[in-house]
Amino acid sequence: MKKSLFDLTGKIAVVTGGGRGIGRGIAETLAQHGATVMLASRNEDNLKATADAIAQGGGKAGWHACDVTDEEDVTALRDATLDAYGQIDILVNNAGIDPHYASMERTDPADWQRIVDVNLSGVFLGCRIIGSAMLARETGSIINISSVAGHVGLKRQVPYCATKGGVEQLTKALSLDWAERGVRVNAIAYGFIATDLTNAVITHEHIGPKLLARTPMGRFGTVEEVGGAAVFLASDGASYVTGSTIMVDGGWTAG
Ligand code: NAP
Repeated sequence: MKKSLFDLTGKIAVVTGGGRGIGRGIAETLAQHGATVMLASRNEDNLKATADAIAQGGGKAGWHACDVTDEEDVTALRDATLDAYGQIDILVNNAGIDPHYASMERTDPADWQRIVDVNLSGVFLGCRIIGSAMLARETGSIINISSVAGHVGLKRQVPYCATKGGVEQLTKALSLDWAERGVRVNAIAYGFIATDLTNAVITHEHIGPKLLARTPMGRFGTVEEVGGAAVFLASDGASYVTGSTIMVDGGWTAG
């Protein structure tokens, strides 16, 4: 039988923030579909635990400690992946930090910079440095992780919304630059998914129910539900897809 369009066997994927939350969900799903996954973030214990879990499930995974805001770290991540596996086919720029729930008046420049450094500059560095290994082979799929906050404003989250809007525009602009060079660049924008990042708001006695009421599907997403869109964008099934964002948001932005 012909190989499935969504079979990732033989492909090498780098997933930043792959040790927990959405990154772990994406990494596990990519591995279930045959990809070998290189997990990267700062916390080595989480990375090792996720790599072990993937291996126990019959998948293949390695890990490399990396701060996505550090150019040298991201370069070392690229080189370690190439040393270990010889190529990079898929990059998921997932590492991201909190919505800094505060009014503009209580958001100081250091808060702004901290969020921009990880959520936007981290994506820039990942695309530029790890993307270079894709350009060299004229093949690859980059998946940048965005949010409903890249599409609509959320109250008291100016830096987070600005960075996710930036990720969406970075994705579109870069997709044009690399469209004829074999490297596709897309984004996935999630709604509220239960992770460490959202735990405080979705379990909050007043905010949680309001968020649920605002979500057409009437529930939060789970980390088990985040990987399907990544498998699609990473796969040959998306060979004509670039510059797009897939909304995985329970309908949040539909109305
Ligand atoms: P999370 O559970 O807090 O995980 C964040 C991940 O990013 C961790 O693996 C963390 O690893 C990594 N990370 C943070 N700063 C880093 C840095 N400087 N260098 C390397 N890795 C770093 O958050 P999440 O909910 O899974 O969010 C993952 C992505 O999805 C983020 O981009 C977020 O904006 C986006 N998103 C989340 C939701 C949601 O509802 N949860 C919705 C829309 C979009 P270490 O701490 O080990 O470094």
